[in-house]
Amino acid sequence: MNNFNRLSTRALLYFAVMGFLLSCSAQGEAEADPEEQYAAQREAMVTHQLAGRDVSDRDVLDAMRTVPRHLFVPKKYRDESYRDHPLPIGEGQTISQPYIVGIMTQLLDVDSTSKVLEIGTGSGYQAAVLAEICDSVFSIEIVEPLAARADYLLDSLGYKVKVRCGDGYRGWEEHAPFDGIIVTAAAPKIPQPLIDQLKVGGRLVIPVGDYSQDLMVITKTEDGFAKKNIFGVRFVPMTGEVQKK
Ligand code: SAH
Repeated sequence: MNNFNRLSTRALLYFAVMGFLLSCSAQGEAEADPEEQYAAQREAMVTHQLAGRDVSDRDVLDAMRTVPRHLFVPKKYRDESYRDHPLPIGEGQTISQPYIVGIMTQLLDVDSTSKVLEIGTGSGYQAAVLAEICDSVFSIEIVEPLAARADYLLDSLGYKVKVRCGDGYRGWEEHAPFDGIIVTAAAPKIPQPLIDQLKVGGRLVIPVGDYSQDLMVITKTEDGFAKKNIFGVRFVPMTGEVQKK
């Protein structure tokens, strides 16, 4: 082989290898794992929207770092699921902004030994966050298609949450008393049955009001309850019996 031929063979080999490498990296970019991208968005959400504000509870931060929030919103909103705002979940309902889920879970002050009840399953996201922290989670949703969808999704992700379709106003008597009850729809007034179903020392975290609402923490005491006002919030209304009285 003369020098010219040897050079052109080398050049051909060079271009072939470079071409192959370039096509691999282009494919790599096009097929970047969406789950990895969502995990990065989730990490940023925890850092900036939760820890960067006043959510400091380790268990809450770890739970929200783990639960795949994008799977709890309709497909068309997946890319927005880790942003700092609520999103529609169908049936005129919404999944709360991540910060609100974080602060309400922190205010509930529960741990792995706790038994908790959620009123307003919606997408099932808040229930999944609770299930990352607590052994025993119950959730009630009044809108049948939402209850069915959340039940299926939670189950398929391996979360052992007991979901029931019905009006949460009267709580879930057969599993009471609870260490914590969280209501994710705004009640015009505090449903007495929910206070009754708390253990002494247990907490009810609930948005109270109609148009103007306050997030409240009710702590059950030996002889009644103590009430603390946290800040103003905006939730969809709690429907059913609470509106009739
Ligand atoms: N926690 C939900 C967000 C729920 S939005 C999530 O993580 O996605 C509030 C939900 O409360 C809605 O789905 C609404 O249908 C439900 N709801 C309203 N009134 C209710 C009631 N009386 N009992 C149970 N669920 C109720």
